[in-house]
Amino acid sequence: MANKISREQWQALKSLPPETVFRFLGLEMRPTNNPDQLRGPCPVCKRGGDRALSWTHSIKMWACQGMCPPHPGKKALVGDLVALVAHARGIKQIPAAELMLQEFMREPEKPKASKSSQRRSAKLRGAPKPSKAPVGGTEFTIVDYLQQFS
Ligand SMILES: [Zn+2]
Repeated sequence: MANKISREQWQALKSLPPETVFRFLGLEMRPTNNPDQLRGPCPVCKRGGDRALSWTHSIKMWACQGMCPPHPGKKALVGDLVALVAHARGIKQIPAAELMLQEFMREPEKPKASKSSQRRSAKLRGAPKPSKAPVGGTEFTIVDYLQQFS
């Protein structure tokens, strides 16, 4: 994917349903006594038992309380969903975001959109072209995708 990741895309990736991302990474995050928190084993350091990795819904952040080295000046390694994919896969954040866009931003509307735009353009033949509407139909964005969850 050569396109630059937009601000909206970053925001959308960070707001993905965390369970979707956990499943993608094969993480077993289980509910805890705290309804705001899930915990599971850290796939990277594999230390600290099956509660080492925590996820906090209210702040959309995870933390490794196992043996993953924290960023300088921090007590634990923490991050958002993009950082979690980067962490679990051992890649940097931009490739992680690209991977997530590929994985979670498939374009299920694409075949349908192209059919209907063919029909639309057949109807419009001979009529003056609308100046603003894009010919290929509207682009399906991850924001549209996310709206399916709300
Ligand atoms: Zn760890």
